[in-house]
Order: sequence, then C-alpha cells, then structure tokens
Amino acid sequence: MTETIDALAGLVAGGGVVVLSGAGLSTESGIPDYRGPSGAARRHSPMTYQTFTRDPLARRRYWARSHLGWRMIARAAPNDGHRAVARLQDAGLVDGVITQNVDGLHTAAGSPQVVELHGRLDEVVCLDCGNRTSREELDRRLREANPGFDAVVGAVNPDGDVELADEQVAAFRTVDCTFCGTGMLKPDVVFFGETVPAPRVSHCFAMVGAARLLLVLGSSLTVMSGRRFVLRAAKLGIPVVIANQGPTRGDGYAALTVDAPLGRLLPALADRVCGAVSARVPAAGALPAAVAPATL
Ligand SMILES: [Zn+2]
Repeated sequence: MTETIDALAGLVAGGGVVVLSGAGLSTESGIPDYRGPSGAARRHSPMTYQTFTRDPLARRRYWARSHLGWRMIARAAPNDGHRAVARLQDAGLVDGVITQNVDGLHTAAGSPQVVELHGRLDEVVCLDCGNRTSREELDRRLREANPGFDAVVGAVNPDGDVELADEQVAAFRTVDCTFCGTGMLKPDVVFFGETVPAPRVSHCFAMVGAARLLLVLGSSLTVMSGRRFVLRAAKLGIPVVIANQGPTRGDGYAALTVDAPLGRLLPALADRVCGAVSARVPAAGALPAAVAPATL
C-alpha cells in the first residue's frame, strides 16, 4: 500500500486535480453504497422520473419510504475521506469537486463550490411552478400530515429509500406545493430516466477539460452520467486515477487504480501532500523531501 500511496501522492502533488466522487465516499458516513462491495444489491429498482410523475401510488410509496430514509441521511456526517478532499482543495491541489452523491457531505466537510451532478436530497422542487423549499420544511409538513406514522425502517438506500409494507404505504399522506397550491413535489435530485441539466453537464466538462488529473473517488462508474467524464478525460489525454473498493467500469482508462477504504486512503494522501505544500507544486512526480512516508 505504501507504494500505491507513493504513486498516488506523486500524481496529486502536481495539482490541477478535479475530483469525481460517488457513493463509495459516503459509505463510511453510514450511507450504504448499493453497488459497492459493502452494500447489498438494491432491493427495489430505482424510482424513475416517469414512474414518479405518472403513477400516484408509486409516488406515495416513494415519499413514505423517503420520509423515513431522509432522517438517516439528515443525521449523516462527513467522514475523514470528505475532510481530506477539503484539505486537498484548501492546499490548492484540487481545483474542483464533481459529486454524484446527493447527501451534501462534501459541502458539510468544508469543500467550496461542489458541483452536485445529481442534485441534493435536502432540497425539494415543485414540478409545476418550480418553487424550491428545504427538505426540512417538507419533513415538518409530512410529519404533521402523518401523525403517528411509525413504520419500522429496514434497509436504507443512498437516496433515502426504505422498506415498507403495502398497508403502511396506503396510510401515508403526501402533500403538495404550498406556493402554487397544487403542484407535485419532488426531491431536487436527478432520478433515473431523467437527464442532468445541460448547463451543469457543460460546466463539468469544462472542469474536466481544464484539469491536469481526474481523480475518481468511490464510484463504480456504472452509469454514463459519471462515466462520461472519464471518457472525456481519456479522449483529451488527461490522466485518470480511480480509487474505489472493487473494480469499476473506468478501470481500462485509468493510469492508476487504488482499491482501499477511502476513509483511510485519503487522509494518508492529504497528510502526505498537504503538509509541505505552501504553493502549487509545478511538476507531477516529485514529493517534498520533508514529507514522511505514510503507512497504511
Ligand atoms: Zn408549486
């Protein structure tokens, strides 16, 4: 592992890094990664935008489960991996963070200007009038509409999905937009079957295009939504490094792959490259001599 840290530190110390993070970075915050090795396969197929908007029963089921799952997501705190990314930004080595996660934990860890590719679970949007509100406020309204809703929370998925019996779902009352009065509310996250807003994608492509290195953290790159940035970097000749537990669909494009728990790997990396960095290190490869070797 020390050799891997050496190689990783050598690449990151050159700066100009853009991070692309996924669910694997948040597993150590207690948010399961249903695709990674620590998470079981998802029990339900993910909610699609089409089902959510067209099927009132499916929508009720989504909100009933999400109402419970949200509490777990809301309690989650950033872990050492998120904090290490913020340190790398603070040291001027990481120029930007693109995350596929909807948990807001990069921002909570102190990372500035995180691009949340798939939105944030703590915001709610009205599909009719576009009004945005906080999930906290919706949570309060849903609690008022469902006094005594006391279901057993089973397995929780990263988007706040939980297991509920049919009769528990049937008893759940959803609420509409308070601004226009009748609009359908949806968490401000990109569902399956929905596309990421084009300006957000363009912004991410520009970030990747300007990077010296693309560092993928905790994503299996299963969906094209994230994988396309690896493909773009590879096409532009920008090196890609992938740190993830288990293989990914981008491994064939990576200059380096690291299979390690990110909550240990990233602090070791940050210790290694941040301590002695007072200004951007101009060339990749060389590490300041004063930095002690990390042991993982
Ligand atoms: Zn509305």
